[in-house]
Amino acid sequence: MARKFFVGGNFKMNGSKASIKEIVEQLNAADIPDSAEVVISPPALYVHWAEKHLTNDKVKIAAQNAFPKASGAYTGEISASQIKDVGADWVILGHSERRTIIKESDEFVAEKTVHALENDLGVILCIGELLEERQNGETVEVCTRQLKPVVEAVKDWSKIVVAYEPVWAIGTGLAATPEDAQETHAAIRKYLSEKIGEQADGVRILYGGSVNGKNAHTFNDCPDIDGYLVGGASLKPEFLDIIKSRS
Ligand code: PGA
Repeated sequence: MARKFFVGGNFKMNGSKASIKEIVEQLNAADIPDSAEVVISPPALYVHWAEKHLTNDKVKIAAQNAFPKASGAYTGEISASQIKDVGADWVILGHSERRTIIKESDEFVAEKTVHALENDLGVILCIGELLEERQNGETVEVCTRQLKPVVEAVKDWSKIVVAYEPVWAIGTGLAATPEDAQETHAAIRKYLSEKIGEQADGVRILYGGSVNGKNAHTFNDCPDIDGYLVGGASLKPEFLDIIKSRS
């Protein structure tokens, strides 16, 4: 099944009104190939600001998190319906920085995923192992453990994109090799096909972790790598090189 190339830009807790406007204006002026689906994810405070300046309809916006309740006494949180209301179509959930620093559990990430989908947001669902887990040979086990509560709760996977992001590769400049990444992506797809059947053929599985303008094309021959979730390089002009790396 043909899966459309997907590139997400995760700005994390970076940027200001001025810098985010500049990135959005660069994307407005960019010649984005029809073959690429592009989503940028500014901090929640700037989602509306980014949407206000975005004129290129090939680019969509994601929030970086969402609380799994519609509204109420949840100080500091934002809901999926509020994210939709300010013009975003996607949300990143389960990023390793939230799993490890904020201690979000696999079950909580699944609950958020269900709630986001119910509110018609697309979900970029992040999974991935720590260095120690990789060294212990637990990579696939960790990824499937993180996916398990989601496959148990979600029937329709058409609005989920999985991002495999080995934690040791994030922000380190040490991307996984295409061979290692492909091996894990294939294992993730195999697990998904066992759990959700043929739908797994259509699920985009992104690689994330030190992807940049120079190395993006090295993953082009990996059949199960359907795009990238990009952190640091999404704040730089080379983001466009990543977007164009398969065309
Ligand atoms: P990086 O981050 O590209 O800066 O390694 C990726 C991510 O955390 O999504």
